[in-house]
Amino acid sequence: MSFTSLGLSPETLSVLAVLNYVTPTPVQVAAIPVILHGSDLIAQAQTGSGKTLAYSAPLMQSLQLGVRPRTVQALILVPTRELAAQVAATISSLADSLGRSFKMAVLFGGVSVNPQMMHLRGGADIVIATPGRLLDLIAHNAVSIANVNTLVLDEADRLLELGFAEELERILAFLPSSRQTLLFSATFAPRVEALAQQISQNPVRVDVPETEIAKPDILQRSISVDVGRRTQLLRHLIKTEGWKRVLVFVATKYSADLISTKLRRLDIAAEPFHGELSQGKREQVLADFKASRVKVVIATDLAGRGIDVADLDVVVNYDLPRSADDYVHRIGRTGRAGASGLAVNFVSAESLAHFTIISRKCHIRVELETILGFEAQDVAPSIEVPLDVNGGVKGRRPSKKDKLRALNAQQSLNPKNSDS
Ligand code: ADP
Ligand code: MG
Repeated sequence: MSFTSLGLSPETLSVLAVLNYVTPTPVQVAAIPVILHGSDLIAQAQTGSGKTLAYSAPLMQSLQLGVRPRTVQALILVPTRELAAQVAATISSLADSLGRSFKMAVLFGGVSVNPQMMHLRGGADIVIATPGRLLDLIAHNAVSIANVNTLVLDEADRLLELGFAEELERILAFLPSSRQTLLFSATFAPRVEALAQQISQNPVRVDVPETEIAKPDILQRSISVDVGRRTQLLRHLIKTEGWKRVLVFVATKYSADLISTKLRRLDIAAEPFHGELSQGKREQVLADFKASRVKVVIATDLAGRGIDVADLDVVVNYDLPRSADDYVHRIGRTGRAGASGLAVNFVSAESLAHFTIISRKCHIRVELETILGFEAQDVAPSIEVPLDVNGGVKGRRPSKKDKLRALNAQQSLNPKNSDS
């Protein structure tokens, strides 16, 4: 399969060839013709499978050039600043090779708003933005999105979730109702499905299922370790396994700061990455990570979405993610574009019940490894863990159903209490 049969123009095809994109990925094969046809689209395809190019290439081709004054024709929304910059880099590379003078504006918070306002003078053809800053700039009349032809939501399920949903709704109110809407993500939780349908019109659904052959080549290991020994274990693994570039996920900004400080004391080049750092620092950390000046980045879920770091060999879940979807996105920072990767989960007595839930949803092997010298000593807190009918752990607190079930069980043990 090559790009030639997808309906792209000869000009776009030559740009793809120049940029060394030879074979389209499955999501590109499925999505590009739909986008060129003008339909709305909800596309679900695994992490690292080239979703950015799947929308960027047809989008660039359909931009009208030389519209004066420039109006925003395409709006790409993303959940994080880093992702905005990354998508912008992909689009710039396409635009540069096309040799056309598109004007692109990249709008995100954490940096001064004035340069972005200046840049927007005279309009822009394409805007890549995080929702909050875009709304600020709209409120300042610095940009109008009333003539947008194409709206892209990258990491769409994240943007449809609580936390972004309200901003998204406000943005939608500024957009024309007749437009093309394209939604991309590796996961779409059932709870955002209705919203996804609501903001698009008769969307074509592209699902690139994970097959054994096509799924990201990520080896997943889970290691049993006591909470208090995780930093030591991390250091041990970095040394003994020769890991070169490691992204470690933790639950809080505080942990990210603390663990990176500890690792630095142990002579490992580590930096935190989270939402409380200045934008300059965030950019610096990612740049240093990509350039191998920093070996370990300790991050919150801020780094869990979309970020594409080449040759990222290992992702460590030092703290487990909240949900199975977050797990998929986190480990998907490795094993990208056909490369292989390793994901390591630290599982303690306390997190075992939660791990069991995630492992079932994500089909991870439940057996835990033990590392010599780091054998877990802690026992699980003595909270009764209710089992569901299949003998699985359902959560720490009994649900209503669990209570009913327990009551029924009790009644069947004491037939005299039973009505039957
Ligand atoms: P996703 O958004 O699906 O997680 P990205 O769009 O970030 O994935 O792409 C992951 C990597 O794959 C990027 O480095 C990108 O340059 C590369 N890539 C995308 N399409 C192709 C292709 N057709 N051939 C080779 N590499 C590709
Ligand atoms: Mg992406």
